[in-house]
Order: sequence, then structure tokens, then C-alpha cells
Amino acid sequence: MTQPPLRAAIVPVTPLQQNCSIVWCTATMKAAVVDPGGDLPRIRAAIAKAGVTVEKILLTHGHIDHAGEAKPLADELGVGIEGPHEADRFWLARLDEDGRNYGIRGVVFEPGRWLVTGDTVTIGNLSLDVHETPGHTAGSVTFHHPASKLALVGDVLFAGSVGRTDMAQGDHATLVRSIVETLWPMGGDTAFIPGHGPMSSFAQERAGNPFVGDAVLSG
Ligand SMILES: [Zn+2]
Ligand SMILES: [Zn+2]
Repeated sequence: MTQPPLRAAIVPVTPLQQNCSIVWCTATMKAAVVDPGGDLPRIRAAIAKAGVTVEKILLTHGHIDHAGEAKPLADELGVGIEGPHEADRFWLARLDEDGRNYGIRGVVFEPGRWLVTGDTVTIGNLSLDVHETPGHTAGSVTFHHPASKLALVGDVLFAGSVGRTDMAQGDHATLVRSIVETLWPMGGDTAFIPGHGPMSSFAQERAGNPFVGDAVLSG
């Protein structure tokens, strides 16, 4: 058996049990930490266990549970932060305030690179496609590695649910459009890591998701 080119380890962090992911290139053992919202000791332990060298931090969107401790981790590791889309500047600018409200640490920052559809982000030898998937937040992005049939979707889509759109700048119709027009074309056999809860596949959600399943949307 040859090693798959990409591997991922999920580390639930913060009281909101957000799926921080360590994603790495098995050829180079270079890694990205996706959405380090908090609980840095747990993230450090996962990095050590995987035996990888972190070369960057990637963010799907600017909410506190995803981005709260991105800046201190980036400083500690001496790496840059890429993402989300610039429309989430609104959320990144209020991480300290939101952190106080949730009783967790939030550090305000601006990423070194805002992302847009068509961009790619690299992890070692891997190249992941960036897709804007607004709706949950205006600046949400999805990272897609076609060769691995894997997507990291943040809080756009969950196993059996979709991202909430009742917070500032959320919009349900936009969210549904992002899912149907951007995620579904990646293919039903694409597995996804959501921002919270278990993994699933797009086929499984099209079959049974009560918000965006095919039967619901065609009904
Ligand atoms: Zn969110
Ligand atoms: Zn979240």
C-alpha cells in the first residue's frame, strides 16, 4: 500500500467543539493547521503526534471558534496565515470582543493573504483549490483537494445540517447556493470535514440532508 498524498487529523477545540484540522503532505511531512480557534496545547500535541512541520495556518472563516487563536499560534510557529476571504475582515476585527463574550481567547489580526475563488494554497507538495462559499459568513471559503476527494468546508455544511445564517452578514439563500453550485460539483464521492461534528460526503448529504438534500430542494 502506498501512502495517500494527503492526510488529516481532526482536533476538536474550544467549548464549541470546532474541528481544527492538521492537514499534511505525506511526501514532505509539511502541514497546515486549519482553523486553530483555541486550545493550543491540544493542537500542539496533535502536531507532535503527527510528526509534521507546520508551514502555514489556513482559515475557512473569521468566527471566534475557528480563528480566535490563529494569531498566537502563527507567531509561536513563525508561520503565516492565509484566508479567509476579505469579506470576513468584519469578524477578524472583533475576535477580542467575541472572545470575551464566549469566555475564550480571541486575538485580532489580519491574514498575510486574503483568498478568492481560483486561488490555490500549498501544503508541502500538495495544492488545494480555494472556493468562495459565502452564506454562513460573507467571507467563508472551502479548501478542496480533488486528488484526495476531500474538502474542508468550515461551517458551510454539516453532516445532516447546514451553517447558521442568523448572525451578522449571514444569508440562507446565499448559503444554499454555495452548497449547490460550488460544493456539489466537486462530486458525490467527495468527503468533507465540517467545522463541527462528524465527517460526511456530498452524496450522503444530497441523499438525506434535511436542508439541502436533492428531495428537499426539488420539492
Ligand atoms: Zn462559523
Ligand atoms: Zn464554527
